[in-house]
Amino acid sequence: MQQDCIFCKIAAKEIPVQPIYEDEQLIAFPDINPAAPVHVLIIPKKHIASILEIEPEDQFVMGQMLSAIKRIAEQAGLADEGFRVVMNTKENGGQTVHHLHCHILGGRAMTWPPG
Ligand code: C5P
Repeated sequence: MQQDCIFCKIAAKEIPVQPIYEDEQLIAFPDINPAAPVHVLIIPKKHIASILEIEPEDQFVMGQMLSAIKRIAEQAGLADEGFRVVMNTKENGGQTVHHLHCHILGGRAMTWPPG
Protein backbone atom coordinates (compact mmCIF):
# COMPACT_ATOMS: atom_id res chain seq x y z
CA MET A 1 0.00 0.00 0.00
CA GLN A 2 1.26 3.45 -0.91
CA GLN A 3 0.57 6.31 1.49
CA ASP A 4 -1.69 9.02 0.11
CA CYS A 5 -2.90 6.82 -2.76
CA ILE A 6 -6.68 7.08 -2.87
CA PHE A 7 -7.11 3.78 -4.72
CA CYS A 8 -4.86 1.97 -2.20
CA LYS A 9 -7.22 3.31 0.48
CA ILE A 10 -10.21 1.98 -1.46
CA ALA A 11 -8.48 -1.41 -1.84
CA ALA A 12 -7.75 -1.44 1.91
CA LYS A 13 -11.40 -0.51 2.68
CA GLU A 14 -10.30 2.71 4.36
CA ILE A 15 -12.52 4.53 1.88
CA PRO A 16 -15.81 2.69 1.34
CA VAL A 17 -17.13 1.95 -2.14
CA GLN A 18 -19.95 -0.24 -3.40
CA PRO A 19 -18.01 -3.11 -4.94
CA ILE A 20 -19.34 -4.35 -8.25
CA TYR A 21 -16.80 -7.15 -8.34
CA GLU A 22 -14.04 -8.21 -5.94
CA ASP A 23 -11.55 -11.03 -5.66
CA GLU A 24 -8.17 -11.43 -3.98
CA GLN A 25 -6.42 -9.36 -6.63
CA LEU A 26 -8.95 -6.80 -7.84
CA ILE A 27 -11.81 -4.57 -6.85
CA ALA A 28 -14.30 -2.87 -9.21
CA PHE A 29 -16.57 -0.02 -8.20
CA PRO A 30 -18.60 2.79 -9.80
CA ASP A 31 -16.66 5.89 -10.83
CA ILE A 32 -17.52 8.76 -8.46
CA ASN A 33 -17.85 11.13 -11.43
CA PRO A 34 -19.44 9.01 -14.17
CA ALA A 35 -18.75 9.94 -17.78
CA ALA A 36 -21.34 7.51 -19.16
CA PRO A 37 -24.50 5.76 -17.92
CA VAL A 38 -22.27 2.84 -16.91
CA HIS A 39 -18.81 3.84 -15.67
CA VAL A 40 -16.95 1.27 -13.63
CA LEU A 41 -13.32 1.33 -12.47
CA ILE A 42 -11.31 -1.84 -11.93
CA ILE A 43 -8.14 -1.58 -9.86
CA PRO A 44 -5.54 -4.09 -8.73
CA LYS A 45 -5.35 -4.16 -4.94
CA LYS A 46 -1.57 -4.02 -5.30
CA HIS A 47 -0.25 -0.53 -5.94
CA ILE A 48 0.93 -0.35 -9.55
CA ALA A 49 1.30 3.28 -10.64
CA SER A 50 0.44 2.78 -14.31
CA ILE A 51 0.80 0.38 -17.24
CA LEU A 52 4.44 1.43 -17.33
CA GLU A 53 5.08 -0.07 -13.88
CA ILE A 54 3.62 -3.52 -14.62
CA GLU A 55 6.20 -6.16 -13.70
CA PRO A 56 6.39 -9.78 -14.92
CA GLU A 57 4.87 -10.97 -11.62
CA ASP A 58 1.80 -8.82 -12.34
CA GLN A 59 0.82 -10.79 -15.44
CA PHE A 60 -1.68 -12.88 -13.51
CA VAL A 61 -3.53 -9.92 -12.06
CA MET A 62 -3.63 -8.21 -15.45
CA GLY A 63 -5.15 -11.34 -16.95
CA GLN A 64 -7.67 -11.38 -14.11
CA MET A 65 -8.50 -7.79 -14.97
CA LEU A 66 -9.37 -8.73 -18.56
CA SER A 67 -11.61 -11.52 -17.32
CA ALA A 68 -13.27 -9.11 -14.88
CA ILE A 69 -13.93 -6.63 -17.70
CA LYS A 70 -15.85 -9.31 -19.58
CA ARG A 71 -17.81 -10.40 -16.50
CA ILE A 72 -18.70 -6.86 -15.41
CA ALA A 73 -19.69 -5.75 -18.92
CA GLU A 74 -21.95 -8.76 -19.34
CA GLN A 75 -23.54 -8.25 -15.92
CA ALA A 76 -24.10 -4.55 -16.68
CA GLY A 77 -25.90 -5.45 -19.89
CA LEU A 78 -23.22 -3.98 -22.15
CA ALA A 79 -22.41 -7.06 -24.21
CA ASP A 80 -25.00 -6.53 -26.96
CA GLU A 81 -24.27 -2.91 -27.83
CA GLY A 82 -20.65 -2.78 -26.70
CA PHE A 83 -18.59 -0.56 -24.47
CA ARG A 84 -15.20 1.12 -24.18
CA VAL A 85 -12.22 0.18 -22.00
CA VAL A 86 -9.71 2.93 -21.18
CA MET A 87 -6.45 2.96 -19.24
CA ASN A 88 -5.23 6.54 -19.10
CA THR A 89 -1.46 6.65 -18.67
CA LYS A 90 0.57 9.60 -17.36
CA GLU A 91 0.11 13.22 -18.34
CA ASN A 92 -0.71 12.95 -22.03
CA GLY A 93 -3.06 10.08 -21.35
CA GLY A 94 -4.99 12.17 -18.83
CA GLN A 95 -4.19 9.96 -15.83
CA THR A 96 -5.19 11.76 -12.62
CA VAL A 97 -4.98 8.89 -10.12
CA HIS A 98 -1.57 7.27 -10.21
CA HIS A 99 -2.70 3.77 -9.29
CA LEU A 100 -3.37 1.64 -12.36
CA HIS A 101 -7.07 1.45 -13.21
CA CYS A 102 -9.22 0.47 -16.09
CA HIS A 103 -12.38 2.39 -16.99
CA ILE A 104 -15.36 0.47 -18.41
CA LEU A 105 -17.67 2.94 -20.11
CA GLY A 106 -21.00 2.00 -21.63
CA GLY A 107 -24.66 2.72 -22.03
CA ARG A 108 -24.19 5.28 -24.79
CA ALA A 109 -22.38 5.53 -28.12
CA MET A 110 -18.78 6.70 -27.69
CA THR A 111 -17.09 9.10 -30.07
CA TRP A 112 -13.68 8.81 -31.71
CA PRO A 113 -11.10 10.28 -31.49
CA PRO A 114 -11.30 10.93 -27.76
CA GLY A 115 -10.63 14.46 -26.55
O1 C5P B 1 -7.94 7.88 -15.66
P1 C5P B 1 -8.01 8.84 -14.53
O2 C5P B 1 -6.81 8.78 -13.62
O3 C5P B 1 -8.26 10.26 -14.97
O4 C5P B 1 -9.29 8.42 -13.74
C1 C5P B 1 -9.46 8.54 -12.37
C2 C5P B 1 -10.91 8.29 -12.11
O5 C5P B 1 -11.08 8.02 -10.75
C3 C5P B 1 -11.82 9.49 -12.45
O6 C5P B 1 -12.78 9.11 -13.42
C4 C5P B 1 -12.44 9.83 -11.10
O7 C5P B 1 -13.79 10.24 -11.22
C5 C5P B 1 -12.31 8.51 -10.36
N1 C5P B 1 -12.31 8.58 -8.91
C6 C5P B 1 -13.23 7.85 -8.18
N2 C5P B 1 -13.23 7.91 -6.82
C7 C5P B 1 -12.33 8.66 -6.18
C8 C5P B 1 -11.36 9.38 -6.90
C9 C5P B 1 -11.37 9.34 -8.28
O8 C5P B 1 -14.07 7.17 -8.76
N3 C5P B 1 -12.37 8.70 -4.86
